Amino acid sequence: MTAMSATLTHLVDDLNAGRLRIVDLTQPLEPSTPVIDLPPIFAASPGVTIDAISRYDDKGPAWYWNTLRFGEHTGTHFDAPIHWITGKDLPDNACDTIPARRFVGPACVIDVTRDVDANPDFLLTLDRLEQWERQHGRIQRGSWVLLRTGWSRRTDRAAFLNVGADGPHSPGFDAAVSTLLAKDRDVLGVGVETIGTDAGQAGTFNPPFPNHTVMHGAGKFGLASLCNLDQLPPTGAVVIAAPLKIVNGSGSPVRVIAIV
Ligand code: MN
Repeated sequence: MTAMSATLTHLVDDLNAGRLRIVDLTQPLEPSTPVIDLPPIFAASPGVTIDAISRYDDKGPAWYWNTLRFGEHTGTHFDAPIHWITGKDLPDNACDTIPARRFVGPACVIDVTRDVDANPDFLLTLDRLEQWERQHGRIQRGSWVLLRTGWSRRTDRAAFLNVGADGPHSPGFDAAVSTLLAKDRDVLGVGVETIGTDAGQAGTFNPPFPNHTVMHGAGKFGLASLCNLDQLPPTGAVVIAAPLKIVNGSGSPVRVIAIV
């Protein structure tokens, strides 16, 4: 028998002793889970349906199980590079081919809650990113960059989607930030509390949906509809986000956990 490494022994001991904690960054997945609204000229993702196959009844007297139906990008979910046209020809770009090592990384949490409270269309700019790095250190290669906006406090569907006459309003990233994170900082990807990794108005930006365009074009990932980011320190947590191994999958609902 091989002895457990000291690192893993400490990990288990520290979890058992409460010196390390698991924080669940995942929203419940249920029929009321909000799904992104696209303009009606585009195909829409269905909502969540959960139908019992059997529940200790005639259809299966001793067992309970369900049939699930939903789009790959539903609830707390993972965006693979193949999701976007800019990432469609990259190697290892789908849920089944991304090396599993890349599902684990340190978290950098950027808190812009107050800015977003004042302006739901707030975009993280280079200035703000540099300010964060001056305070907390340079974002390391292979990090998850999580944008803490407080948006997950919006438990009401209409408030969460925040759609006005001119489309949805929710925060995101300035294109220059996405470019710096993807190309220079070489992060794993970005995670957000909102329905997608681009701002609500990003369909009107140039290019449209710049964060998807840049991140996935560089082989980076996205995490959407996260919660409990307020329980993470700015640095020092490790995030694990592993999508279902869907062959050629563009994304998947995911249970995202942080070790803090
Ligand atoms: Mn998505």
